[in-house]
Amino acid sequence: MPVKKHHPSIKDSTLHMKAKKNIALIAHDHRKMDLLDWAEFNSEFLKNHNLFGTGTTGALVAQKLNLPVYTFKSGPLGGDLQIGTAIVDNEIDMMIFFWDPLQAQPHDVDVKALQRIAIVYNIPLACNRSSADFLITSPLMNSNYERFIVDYSQRFKKDLDD
Ligand code: PGA
Repeated sequence: MPVKKHHPSIKDSTLHMKAKKNIALIAHDHRKMDLLDWAEFNSEFLKNHNLFGTGTTGALVAQKLNLPVYTFKSGPLGGDLQIGTAIVDNEIDMMIFFWDPLQAQPHDVDVKALQRIAIVYNIPLACNRSSADFLITSPLMNSNYERFIVDYSQRFKKDLDD
């Protein structure tokens, strides 16, 4: 399927995503079973990519799928922020994050920061199961992709000038 080419302005840029993606997997406690079930169902797909996760989620996925998963710290202990940093450093290409819509988390501010940085760096982000299904069945999953990165520096400049 041809992908329509973007025409970034001179300041905007793209980041290269390889066919083999670096995928972050995170689930809050009440959503872990759902993520594990989804991951098991899609293990044939996931084994072709590099998997990352917050401490508990990553360990559970590794155990369930018998696949290597690079684990950061547990979410409440800074794991979400570490994944956010990895996104900034272009080490994570996409994120499946099943967060709990019914319970506030002690680290809600970290969760918000992570989701914000995922938007800034324009990574594909799925927060529920059907979105994850649609995301991983995209033909772009198994091809190179140039991810469009907006240059926000002009906005900061404008805000300072106002
Ligand atoms: P966990 O962290 O995988 O270590 O439980 C997930 C989170 O709550 O962000």
